[in-house]
Amino acid sequence: MSSPWHATVLTLFPDMFPGPLGVSLAGKALAGALWALEVRDIRDSATDRHRGVDDTPAGGGPGMVLRSDVLAAAIDAAAPSAGRPRLLMSPRGRPLTQSRVRELAAGPGPLVVCGRFEGVDQRVIEARQLEEISIGDYVLSGGEIAAFALIDACVRLLPGVMGKAESAAEESFSEALLEYPQYTRPQSFEGRPIPDVLVSGDHAKVAAWRQAESEALTRIRRPDLWAGRQKTPKNNTEG
Ligand code: SAH
Repeated sequence: MSSPWHATVLTLFPDMFPGPLGVSLAGKALAGALWALEVRDIRDSATDRHRGVDDTPAGGGPGMVLRSDVLAAAIDAAAPSAGRPRLLMSPRGRPLTQSRVRELAAGPGPLVVCGRFEGVDQRVIEARQLEEISIGDYVLSGGEIAAFALIDACVRLLPGVMGKAESAAEESFSEALLEYPQYTRPQSFEGRPIPDVLVSGDHAKVAAWRQAESEALTRIRRPDLWAGRQKTPKNNTEG
C-alpha cells in the first residue's frame, strides 16, 4: 500500500493539534494510521534573535502581518512534494465546498498554512502558489480552526474511516441537496411520533419521502444550491 493520506499543517500554535482531530472518527483513524498529521511550527523558521514572525503592515494600518520570508522558509522546510495542494486558510479564499473536499481527500493530502494577525504578506502567496480557501463569510482569529474543519471534512471520506460506505453517499451536498431529517428511537418523543413512512418497512416509499424532504429543505434553506443544482439520475450507483 502507498503511504496514507497526509496533512501537513504550518501554524504558530502547534499545541492546538491534533485537538479535535484526535478524537472520535478522525482520532481513531489517526491512531489506526489511516491518515497522518504533520504539524510544523512556523516560528522555527524565524531567523532573527527574537524569533520574529510578523511585522507592521506596509502602508500603515492596524495589526501585524506574517512575514513572507519566514513563511516561505517554513513552507520550503516542509518540502511538500510537487503533487500536493498548498492551501492557505483565508477569508478571502474561494469558499470550501464538498466537491473540493472530495478532490482533496482523493489526492495525497494538502499542506495547510494557518494565518494569524491581519493575514500574510501577499508575496509569499504568489511565490509559493498558495490556494486561498475560506470556510465561510466570517472572520476567525487564526487559520487553525479553519484547518480543523477542512481536514476533518477530508478525513471522514478516506477509505475505511467511516463505518458504512453508504453514510457518505447520501448526506448533505452529495447531490447538491441538503440531507433529509433523521429520526431514531424512542418512537414517540414529547408527543411527536417518528413519521409513519419511516416505520412502514416500505423501502421505496422511504426513499421517495427522503428525496422529497431533501428537495423541499434545499429549496427553502438554500435557494443558491437549488438554483445551481444539476439534475443527477435518481438512482446514482456511484460510491
Ligand atoms: N485581515 C484579514 C483577516 C485575518 S484573520 C482579512 O480581513 O481578510 C487571521 C487569519 O485567520 C487569516 O490569515 C486566516 O488564516 C484565518 N481565517 C480567518 N477567517 C477565516 C475564514 N473564514 N476561513 C479561513 N481562514 C480564516
